[in-house]
This record gives sequence, C-alpha cells and structure tokens, in this order.
Amino acid sequence: MLIDTHSHLYSEEFDNDREAAVQRAIEAGVELMLLPAIDSQSIQRQQQLATSHPSNFRIMAGVHPTSIDDNYERELQIVEEQLRSDAERYVAIGEIGLDLYWDTTYRQQQEEALLRQLDLAENYKKPVSIHIRNAYEEFFDLLARRNHATYNGVLHCYSGTLQQGWQAIEMGFHLGIGGVLTYKKSLLPDIVAKVPLQSLVLETDAPYLAPTPFRGRRNESSYLVYVAQTLADIRQIQVQNVAETTSENAKRIFLSN
Ligand SMILES: [Zn+2]
Repeated sequence: MLIDTHSHLYSEEFDNDREAAVQRAIEAGVELMLLPAIDSQSIQRQQQLATSHPSNFRIMAGVHPTSIDDNYERELQIVEEQLRSDAERYVAIGEIGLDLYWDTTYRQQQEEALLRQLDLAENYKKPVSIHIRNAYEEFFDLLARRNHATYNGVLHCYSGTLQQGWQAIEMGFHLGIGGVLTYKKSLLPDIVAKVPLQSLVLETDAPYLAPTPFRGRRNESSYLVYVAQTLADIRQIQVQNVAETTSENAKRIFLSN
C-alpha cells in the first residue's frame, strides 16, 4: 500500500475522468490520498471528492501562498471557521507556506498568513503540509523568529539543498518526494540517498510534476508507483520496503491523532 500525501485530484484537470483516475490509483496500490486545500474556491470540490470515497481520501484546511493577496484576511477566517466547526475532519493544515518564485508583491502577507496558520496547527494539534518555492532561507528565518523548536509535518515537493533538508529534519519535518526525483539534473536523488528513509514521504502533487515517463503530461496519483520505484532503485532496496516505511511515516504524521 502506498499513500499519496499530496494530491489535487479534485482539481478541474480531472473533471472529465476523475472517477477513472481514482480507480487507477486504488488499483496501483495507492489506497490513501491526502488532499491539500488551495483556498476557499476549491473547498467544495475537495470535500465532494473526499465524501464520495471516505476510505481513500483525507482533507486538509489552509490557504496556499500563491492565493494570498489583499483578501487574505477573509481566506484565513474561512480556515479558522472550518477548524472551529469541525476540526476532526481535517488531517492537517495545508498547503501553507511561502512562494517567491512567481511574485514577491505579497511577501509580507504570505509571511503573516503562514505564521497565523502555524499557530492554528499548534492550537489544534495538527501537522502541516508546507509549500516553499524559492524561499527556504526566508522560511527558516521565519521559523527562527517563532519560539517553537519542533514541528510535525511535511515540506511538500521538497526542492531545497541537502543541508536545508537536514535542517528541516532536525526540526521534525519530513521531506515530501514526488516526480522531480525521476528527472535528470535533479538534486533530489543525492538527498534521498543520504537522509533516513524515516524522514521521507511520497507524493504526486497531481496534476503537476508527473514523473518520467509521463513528464510534461498531467500527473495523477496512480503514478506514485514510479516515484516509489525510483526511490527504491536509488537506495538499492525493495520497493515494498519503500512502500511500507513511507506509508508508516505518513500515518505517523497525519493519522496518529
Ligand atoms: Zn499542492
């Protein structure tokens, strides 16, 4: 059994064949998929998918950093309301973070929103799914200003250096590993060879970042098997071993409450 710790199967990209994509995932052994939130626009689609397959999906609540703009206060209020009314329904706060790749206009607001959502995670004792792009040092600086030494959660689609990876692991984070692992020129193979398997979880980030041989096409949760196989090849262990350990890791992080 594999767990896709980060999938957007509820997104519009799957409107024509969502049910088939879900079945392909289950048949491939990806029996559990975690659905991160983006913003209030996508909550309904996300909840609908989870309700239709309660044993295969879990949902998160949160506001994605690229959805942070002048309306971010309202977005945060919606997340707070979700947790206040039914905290048990959400396995994590996510995806939240900093994204300075596309646009730095709202950097300050992104930082404020991230801090507020980290506080929510702490108050509700939830793990976090963190999205960081072009902002690892800024992220660590932000955490250093916060008086909290350890975290429970995942740096999803990990794209930092080996040293930053160790820094995150020492704080309690796990690294989310997806299709990028299969790309030529990726730094990830070197990183996943050196850090403990206990610090890794698998994810697709579907519909984005499809693994080889599907690179450039729509990604889906069933392709997680390609990520698992690549990780097994790099570490020279059986793919069953990768599946077992990463699934245990995911359960420990997201399902132990
Ligand atoms: Zn995502």
